[in-house]
Amino acid sequence: MKTLVTGGAGFIGSHLVDLLLSEGNEVCVLDNLSTGRVENLTHHEIELSSRVITRDPVDSTGFLTPKKDFGIRNDNLSKIQFHKVDISQEGEWQNLFEGIDWVFHLAALADIVPSIQRPQDYFRANVDGTFNVLQAARKFNVKRVVYAASSSCYGIPSQYPTPEVERCDPQYPYALTKYMGEELVMHWAKIYQLSALSLRFFNVYGPRSRTSGTYGAVFGVFLAQKIAGRPYTVVGDGTQTRDFTFVSDVAAAVLAAAKSNQQAKIYNVGSGKSISVNRIVELLGGDKLHIPKRPGEPDCTFADISKIQKDLDWKPKVSIEAGVAELLKNIDYWKQAPVWTAEKIAEQTKDWFRYLK
Ligand code: NAD
Repeated sequence: MKTLVTGGAGFIGSHLVDLLLSEGNEVCVLDNLSTGRVENLTHHEIELSSRVITRDPVDSTGFLTPKKDFGIRNDNLSKIQFHKVDISQEGEWQNLFEGIDWVFHLAALADIVPSIQRPQDYFRANVDGTFNVLQAARKFNVKRVVYAASSSCYGIPSQYPTPEVERCDPQYPYALTKYMGEELVMHWAKIYQLSALSLRFFNVYGPRSRTSGTYGAVFGVFLAQKIAGRPYTVVGDGTQTRDFTFVSDVAAAVLAAAKSNQQAKIYNVGSGKSISVNRIVELLGGDKLHIPKRPGEPDCTFADISKIQKDLDWKPKVSIEAGVAELLKNIDYWKQAPVWTAEKIAEQTKDWFRYLK
């Protein structure tokens, strides 16, 4: 299949690219590298776009300059076409959808605090970006669009495990914009018969998770603290539980969605288990300290995955113990990650407490 992955240089996107290539598909990656890293893909051969295909005002060149020593060159390795584009703006990049069979739309801004501080950026990337992707997919009659939605749409759910029919009640702009993106996808499926599915990911973790920028997901924070010999900053009393889903399981679910004949449906993608933050600390080993509980966050995330198991014949394979062991094997990756202290977190999350109730 000819496939196109938006956000393919990011954490989940790069694992999806690995899987698509391993099954012999052609892969074209679109990413503006705002949070993604080309290094996430350099174990494959990469063909860089050789012309300006973006109107990104920030980057006047619009493409990366090929370097002689760029990645590992080996004829046996599969090749990716990479285009540095900003999907939040319409542009020539949309012509890259011509001849594409499957579009995987993962590009998004994906942090909570900056979404509260810069809602416009989140709207542009996650809502306008999704609109632009859908319009291109429609224009070139792509066979399938798979959208990376977020379980954050549920807000504080009333049922555990949480089924897809739970009411959506986003608690912060990131969650809202991802949900609006999903609504667009479902609307395009209904009105224009675009063949599309939306997958709501629950707390994805694994190698290459984002380390840069703002205060992020728990594993990145804890692994950097472990390397630095600092205590883990546990939010609240640590009894809150999360449905941690290993990234290779998520990539497999996304591929299963592309291959299926289902249409215009929404699926949870989770491990189907909910693990406490205290248990994660036990698995990682080391001291912890507690920081204040934050508003707008559920005490539990726990996916009901019966629908995806039945319709897509997908189930998660990686246990939390095996997933954490895999992270610890690759712990050097987090050497470059910021080491968060309770004070720095308090400073960084001020707007969280200010705006969310
Ligand atoms: P990530 O930040 O590693 O990946 C997002 C990628 O999108 C990055 O490579 C970034 O550079 C790119 N991007 C952002 N804005 C762009 C733009 N305007 N134009 C082009 N590229 C752009 O994050 P991730 O964790 O891999 O998330 C991937 C997707 O999965 C996102 O849509 C996110 O909302 C969704 N998701 C992730 C989780 C999770 O736990 N990681 C949970 C639910 C949903």
